[in-house]
Amino acid sequence: MSNRPNLSHGRGYLAIPGPSVMPEAVLQAMHRSAPNIYAGELVDMMPGIMADLKRVARTKHHATIYIGNGHAAWEAALSNVIAPGDRVLVPATGRFGYGFGEMAEGIGADVQLIDFGKSSPMDLGRIAQALADDKDHQIKAVLAVHVDTSSSVRNDIKGLRDVLDAAGHPALLMVDCIASLGCDQFEMDDWGVDVMVTGCQKGLMVPPGCSFVFFNDRAQAVREAMPRVSRYWDWTPRSTATEFWQYFNGTAPTHHLYGLRVALDMIHDEGIEQVWARHKVLARAIWAACDAWSAEGDLRLNIADPSVRSCAVTSLRLGDNDGTRLRNWVERELGLTLGIGLGMAEPDDPARDAFFRLGHMGHVNGQMIMGLLGGMQAGMSGLGIAHGRGALDAAAEVIAGH
Ligand SMILES: *Cc1c(COP(=O)(O)O)cnc(C)c1O
Repeated sequence: MSNRPNLSHGRGYLAIPGPSVMPEAVLQAMHRSAPNIYAGELVDMMPGIMADLKRVARTKHHATIYIGNGHAAWEAALSNVIAPGDRVLVPATGRFGYGFGEMAEGIGADVQLIDFGKSSPMDLGRIAQALADDKDHQIKAVLAVHVDTSSSVRNDIKGLRDVLDAAGHPALLMVDCIASLGCDQFEMDDWGVDVMVTGCQKGLMVPPGCSFVFFNDRAQAVREAMPRVSRYWDWTPRSTATEFWQYFNGTAPTHHLYGLRVALDMIHDEGIEQVWARHKVLARAIWAACDAWSAEGDLRLNIADPSVRSCAVTSLRLGDNDGTRLRNWVERELGLTLGIGLGMAEPDDPARDAFFRLGHMGHVNGQMIMGLLGGMQAGMSGLGIAHGRGALDAAAEVIAGH
């Protein structure tokens, strides 16, 4: 046994839900010496980058860039429209719903949480009731997460807008699309979203470090009525920049912009509808394999109803500590890294080692997904974890028949 070859040599696959796999073309575009930030190519690239970001977000309104991660985008968006003491309604469907609410709490908001648990989408009826109960319109914003990356549920954002409209409630609709943008269909303007936040390291295929806030004129009116917004987070000068430094309130994330330029070109060359469709087929292949595996043993998809599953991330569980065992095995033996379970069990609960996640967002294709599934099957066989037969055949049929 000691001379058993290790099969992890070769190109690895980081199949976690962000940071996602980056295209070589993005990495190559970033590999350059420091560019001039006062004139020339990079400065000239900015209007096109801003326009192409809005195309991905499906909005004609305003876009801003922040040097920071998704948490920074949360803080940026909230800082522009939420003052201390303002009430926000947080319909949470997993760890990232709580996170958005905690960020609001941190800037002094009065957070009204509706917790829909860890394996269900928002129940729009309960949200309608909360809005109806808010007779004097104390709720200033609803903070929703499109795809909660911990549970892998996908929420109905258009439905949430309809509920706000039916209630005649003026609250802003603020949506976290950090996991979903460039993966699952999202329509900022058509769905009536007032503020949307995302990051660059998931569907946008760029290393972590930039995030984005999009907002419409309704949100801008709320911004203008704010008693005070900190200079750094203020979205106004960033979204109306006439000088290069104003987009970033300081030095630009130079190399990220080169990477982002290429990533946006790749998305628009493929076509955003085609990007969504690709993620959908690959997700269906994963679900087909999981359904076959679940026929025996303990493997379960966290979200039972396929119509509310994300196409970017899949949250799963096995029995006992088999989730962690499987992750460790496929990483060590195959060079395949699966995502940890996040927010599904308390840190001291042994059940946390049952959970794990698959990231399939951004720069992923059919052979990667077949490799991911084949790796998981090898791991379950290697570890003696019971599983149903025919999973790889089922996945291959989805891909062959798409
Ligand atoms: C990844 C993620 C975040 C947090 O982003 P960071 O870059 O880790 O700060 C927030 N919300 C969702 C839905 C995410 O997927």
